[in-house]
Order: sequence, then C-alpha cells, then structure tokens
Amino acid sequence: MSKHHINTQCIHGPQKANDPHGALTAPLYQTSTFHFENAAQGAARFAGEEPGYIYTRLGNPTTTELEQKVAQLEGCEAAAATATGMGAVSASVLSFLSQGDHLIASNALYGCTFAFFAHMLPRWGIEVSFVDMTDETALRAAIQANSKMIFVETPINPTMDVIDLALIGQLAQQHNLLSVVDNTFLTPLLQAPKQYGIDIIVHSATKYLNGHGDVVAGLVCGSLEHITLIKMTVLKDIGATISPHDAWLINRGLKTLAIRMERHCSSAQIVAEYLEQHPQVSKVYYPGLKSHPGHQYIGKQMQAAGGVIAFELKGSLQQGAQFIDSMQLCTIAVSLGDAETLIQHPASMTHSPYSAEERIAAGISDGLIRLSVGLEDVNDIVADLTQAFTRIA
Ligand code: PLP
Repeated sequence: MSKHHINTQCIHGPQKANDPHGALTAPLYQTSTFHFENAAQGAARFAGEEPGYIYTRLGNPTTTELEQKVAQLEGCEAAAATATGMGAVSASVLSFLSQGDHLIASNALYGCTFAFFAHMLPRWGIEVSFVDMTDETALRAAIQANSKMIFVETPINPTMDVIDLALIGQLAQQHNLLSVVDNTFLTPLLQAPKQYGIDIIVHSATKYLNGHGDVVAGLVCGSLEHITLIKMTVLKDIGATISPHDAWLINRGLKTLAIRMERHCSSAQIVAEYLEQHPQVSKVYYPGLKSHPGHQYIGKQMQAAGGVIAFELKGSLQQGAQFIDSMQLCTIAVSLGDAETLIQHPASMTHSPYSAEERIAAGISDGLIRLSVGLEDVNDIVADLTQAFTRIA
C-alpha cells in the first residue's frame, strides 16, 4: 500500500526507475528476448526456479513497470498488460470459463465485447445471458447452477447506465461467481471496483490510461493467483501480449492521468448541461446530470461522471448524420479518452456488431450520438456543437 495519494501514484509507481545512468524515465526495453549466462540459467528460468526475463511474450521490464503501476492504482496484487482492450476482455474470460459454464453479462456492452460473448463463446459451449443489471430482480433471476462469471461495464458504453457494484460484488460472493468489471470509462481515479470485492478489473488502456490516441492496449488486474493463471495460459499460449513500446507510452501517459481526468470531467459536465437545455436535443445520457438515474452514484461509487456523453437529436437519422458531418473541431472517430474531442454514431460504428434487434434490447437507439469530450478549451467544443446545430436547423 502506497502512502501517497492516488494522483501521485500515477506519476510515481511502486518501483523507482532503476537505471545505471540515473535516467529519470525508465528506459524502454525494446527487445524480444533475453539472453542467459549459461544453459543452467535458461533451464532455471523456464522452471521458475530463478527470477528473470526470458522472452517478451512472457514478460518484459517495461511491461512490468506498467503492470505494477496499474495494479497499485486499482488496489490489486497484480496486473497483466495486453495487446488491446479486447485482449484483456478475452483473457479475463477465456482463462476461467470452460464448456458448460454460464456467463452473466450486462445487456449493453462495447460492441466487440458483445460480439465475443454473443457470437463466439457459445461456439465453445459457454452459455451467456445478457441482463439489464439496473434491474436487481432480473439480475438475481439470471443466476443459474452453472453460472461462473458476472461481467459488467459501468457506466455502460454507450448508454451510460450505471451498475451498482456493491450489489454485483455481494451477489458474486454469495453465488461463488467470479466478478469482472470493465473500468475503462472511469479509470481507477474515479471508480475503485476492488472496494466492492470485484475480482478482476479490465481496461482498454487505449483510452484514458494512455490518453494520447497513439496506442491500442489493455490491462487486467486482480489477485496474484488470477493474474498468474491469465499470464501462464491465455496470454502465454494465445498471445495477445503488449509490445514494450506501447507499455512505455502508456507509462508516460499515466503521469498526466489525474489532471487529464479532471479536465475531461469538468468539460463533459459543461457540455452535457449545454446539450440538455438545447431545443434540438431530445435526450442526454450523462450520469453527471441530475436527470440521469446514475446520478445517485456520483460521489459514492464514482467520484465523477467521466468524459463520455451520449445524446439523441430531435429529427431524422439523416439530420443526425448531417450534424456529425458539420463538425469542424470535433473529430468524427471512434475511441474515447483522447486529447481530441471525438464524435461517433454507435449504431453504425462502435456498436455495429449488434443486430438491429440486439441494439433495441440493449437500449442503443439508431439516433444515439456519442461524444468523448477532449482536452480542448470547453468554449471551443460548445461553439463547434452550436455551429453544427445551426447548420441542421
Ligand atoms: N472496453 C470498452 C468499454 C471499450 O470502449 C473498448 C473499446 O472501445 C474496449 C473494451 C476494447 O478496447 P480495445 O479497442 O483497446 O481493444
């Protein structure tokens, strides 16, 4: 346990840079393999009898630095860095579930997580139920004798529904389920799933953790036992491990996470309030707004509402496309958590792996627009939205 505030831990990880030249920033170990002094040493490392690195798919000092820092931020014993956020999601599920097991997942999820659960897991004999987890009765009813894992995003991408993590932790413990939370939207600075007894925390590090739109990567955090299993099975043998260069970039990005999150959240609040009062907007989904059902969790489960807003325009789908096309500063792009404000249309972009029926069941309307509020001056973001509204009026 660090004696420092979590904001300080983003800058100073658990280990001081240990460089013979005294480099302030830990060096990048851009190497695929590590040599041994002799055959006996190689054998001892493979046998786990001697500490040390072997081959970057199995571990690398730059990757270790990132893993230790994020594990500490999440209050977990250990972490595994992965090549993408989907690498983290798939490793956390495939390492623990087998044929005949049952997975309970939130009814709306990032599109590729949904596709993996809905379309691939059943091919391997893993049963999946998608449940509206804001409905406690439905959630309890979904638990079966073969249920093994419960997987939650909160706030959910893109509906921004907030799930009660205390309830998830309690049900998981009661029914001996492994609980997994995707903490991408809030980061460990704004939400600490471990406090609620959640077993495994996953991230798309592509988003806020890195924060600069130049890396795709993921992280899985949990107990040493769980993370060792993940590393020694799915990551070692299927292989979605991170590149050291990407780990180095995320280590750099993490140093500014705290101040970036402050700005993302304060600007998103202003933009959400602007959208909510706008006559051309029919609905805004942002837990920072008093009108949002997730608002009750602010200051409790979540320190702030994060930087992502979803909203619906009044008018036709065509006007929605025209609105997006009218942006001059905001960029039409998927992903989130970057310095640039990004705007996209989930039904045709991030959530296109859902069929039209599946989207309706998940509450993702065709008119929904998702905005990841960036680090630009908030007045410029609002001005850009204003000129786009004028164009489609
Ligand atoms: N989880 C969430 C909540 C996401 O939004 C995303 C991607 O947008 C992922 C996981 C997958 O991450 P990646 O794109 O890094 O594979």
